[in-house]
Amino acid sequence: MKKYVKILSLISALLIAVLCSGCGKKSMTAEEGKLIMATNAEFPPYEYYEGDKVVGIDAEVAALIAEKLGLELEIADVAFDSIIPGVQSGKYDMGMAGMTVNDERLEKVNFSTSYAKGIQAVIVKEDSDIKSIDDLEGKKIGTQQGTTGYIYASAAPEDGGYGEENVVGYENGAVAVQSLLKDKVDCVIIDNEPAKAYVAANEGLKILDAEFANEDYAICFAKDNTELQKKVDEALKELIADGSLQEIVDKYIKAD
Ligand code: GLN
Repeated sequence: MKKYVKILSLISALLIAVLCSGCGKKSMTAEEGKLIMATNAEFPPYEYYEGDKVVGIDAEVAALIAEKLGLELEIADVAFDSIIPGVQSGKYDMGMAGMTVNDERLEKVNFSTSYAKGIQAVIVKEDSDIKSIDDLEGKKIGTQQGTTGYIYASAAPEDGGYGEENVVGYENGAVAVQSLLKDKVDCVIIDNEPAKAYVAANEGLKILDAEFANEDYAICFAKDNTELQKKVDEALKELIADGSLQEIVDKYIKAD
């Protein structure tokens, strides 16, 4: 009998502990003490793998932000188009992935201060007959699904795009570039810094001398988590003001 009482009280103590872990003030992060950042780690130099570690500008800036907030940074590497839904649902605290601020995304999430500029660039094979943006019509265009590159390219011709039927959205930039190398697409539209990294890493590719679009990168948050957004924003502004952010950028992006 005594044994059962003991077991019963143990079970009820456990139950109370489990139930109460959700009690009290709602934490501003998904997990107490952690800052969970969702990213897509195929986007050098902003996020990519070095061994089994995600490194890059975003990873390092996020680490400094977490440090300022007294939180432990955890990086979740997911498909680019899963970042915003995961942030909206509260699974991740923020999304940081060289993510461009645009109206469509602003309807779903809030953005921090912008911390970098992006330019959409066009990668072609060195011997390509695509010499300028004017030659893109009717070509097969590779992009990364869910990105602004995909959004611009797949727009209807009357809206400045090339039509959805001419655009392939790959899982990530690396796969898009591999498809270009295998002639499955005629070009890849992607942000200029990853474009440079992919061209440097693969022989026979070049970037067209034309800017497809100019953009601002920022960190995204759930609309109802303005508390975290404010704190991250403050930390980010400090890192911009004291030169720490520039130092990280200079480490990863060498002046041309
Ligand atoms: N800047 C682009 C966008 O936000 C691409 C980002 C990325 O692929 N990580 O859509």
